[in-house]
Amino acid sequence: MIHPNTKLKYINSEVGYGVFATRDMPAGTLIYVRDQLELTISQSEFLDLKKALQDQVEKFSYIDENGDRIVSWDMGKYVNHNCDSNTISTGYGFEIATRDIKEGEEITDEYGIFNLEYEMSCQCGAANCRSKISPNDFETYFESWDERIRQVIFEMFNVDQALAPYLDDNNLKELKELMNLPLNYKSVYSQRYLETASLRIKTN
Ligand SMILES: [Zn+2]
Repeated sequence: MIHPNTKLKYINSEVGYGVFATRDMPAGTLIYVRDQLELTISQSEFLDLKKALQDQVEKFSYIDENGDRIVSWDMGKYVNHNCDSNTISTGYGFEIATRDIKEGEEITDEYGIFNLEYEMSCQCGAANCRSKISPNDFETYFESWDERIRQVIFEMFNVDQALAPYLDDNNLKELKELMNLPLNYKSVYSQRYLETASLRIKTN
């Protein structure tokens, strides 16, 4: 589920839609939570879909640590990548604002965490744009992603969290442990699907 203070807006024919903040949200705000309603599509279920539907799933899903494809039931699936994103996925079942987000600003994400099967070109316009997002980015960047998360994750306990009621019980337990034992931080690498290579089965 995407944060309620967001709206969908058409950007252009190349990018399509994007998700934008409808009010200021401070760093540490949970922007997305993987709730119980998200569609979870296993690899075998995916391969059983018609090619046209597979293409739609590939466009709107991310791949989790089990190799399942997750499609948001709400407009969370329209969040675009930016190499200087203002949110990032964590190992705790949510995405967090890594800096203050202003009303009207586009919510953007780091797709490198989504166990990409294929390289994607990127023209996000960020000063640090990598120009392509690659399946190997996880290994290259996870430590810097962890650093970004660590800088804001404890802020989450100090700001309003509209999405807190939707957190998974296991994640809530892990967050309590983190609050008591900050060294217990769980790396974003826990989201890595370690058999990505075996997923590279093309059905066409
Ligand atoms: Zn970029």
